[in-house]
Amino acid sequence: MHAHSDHAHHEHADPASTRLGIVFWLNLSFALIEIAGGLLLNSMAILADALHDFGDCLALGLAWYFQKLSGKKRDRLFSYGYKRFSLLAAVINGLILVGGSLLILRETVPRLWSEPTALNTPGIVGLAILGLSVNGFAVWRLRGGHSANEKVILLHLLEDVLGWAAVLGGGGLMYLTHWYWLDPLLAILIAFWISSNALRSLFHNLGILLQMIPSSVDLDELRAALLELPDIFSVHDLHSWSLDGEYNVLTLHVVQAQTLSPSESLQLKQKIRALARTHGIEHLTLEFETQNEACELEDC
Ligand SMILES: [Zn+2]
Ligand SMILES: [Zn+2]
Ligand SMILES: [Zn+2]
Repeated sequence: MHAHSDHAHHEHADPASTRLGIVFWLNLSFALIEIAGGLLLNSMAILADALHDFGDCLALGLAWYFQKLSGKKRDRLFSYGYKRFSLLAAVINGLILVGGSLLILRETVPRLWSEPTALNTPGIVGLAILGLSVNGFAVWRLRGGHSANEKVILLHLLEDVLGWAAVLGGGGLMYLTHWYWLDPLLAILIAFWISSNALRSLFHNLGILLQMIPSSVDLDELRAALLELPDIFSVHDLHSWSLDGEYNVLTLHVVQAQTLSPSESLQLKQKIRALARTHGIEHLTLEFETQNEACELEDC
């Protein structure tokens, strides 16, 4: 028994995939400009951003690919379809950001103690302005996305914008004061900021992969609401998890209070489905039992 009405949602061309594609190509071309610029200007802060953006490109490419794949329906290999693949991309994405941040720290921390060399501050300011416009455009293109993937990417594109704003401010300050140690300091702050956000979303997505109860589903509340329905004696084997952070699944066994006719059973089933839907469940699997039936999943 399934709630089938929401299964046909992803058949039209996926706008999320188009949005991610545009942002991917934009990011890739800019990351190359950035790496050249960072090396030319000898700026660790810009190289930190460049390395980060390069990691983003790989992550975006994965996300773009998996977003397309995640629209695929069930087949002989994956009975739930490919929704979870977008989650996998989000996890790889998070790992790349954490790894990239560690790399930046390893390269940058020693620079804090070495004698700072003079930097081409007008060049840094110019590149920061370019970075701000490119990333600002990418954020604008991705706004309104709702998949876990798009949220992760939007989040770190926003970080990129703020990162560039910091580089712009730092570059301006170095231009005025010649405090060139600001450059590695900025790079380190950017790396810490990136990795703390990435770790947070990584834990969230790992929770979904490990079939944690979705944060939008309150199982105790749902159980209480079910027990208030007239024909229900008890419920058990209540399990809930999320396929991708949006699409929530629920299984349960319902023991009927008295023997119901087929049409009464159908009515009860429809009530349970409607109730589950108001509690954030999109895919419900339900089993009816009688009171004198021994169920081996009573406490599972
Ligand atoms: Zn189904
Ligand atoms: Zn049972
Ligand atoms: Zn169970």
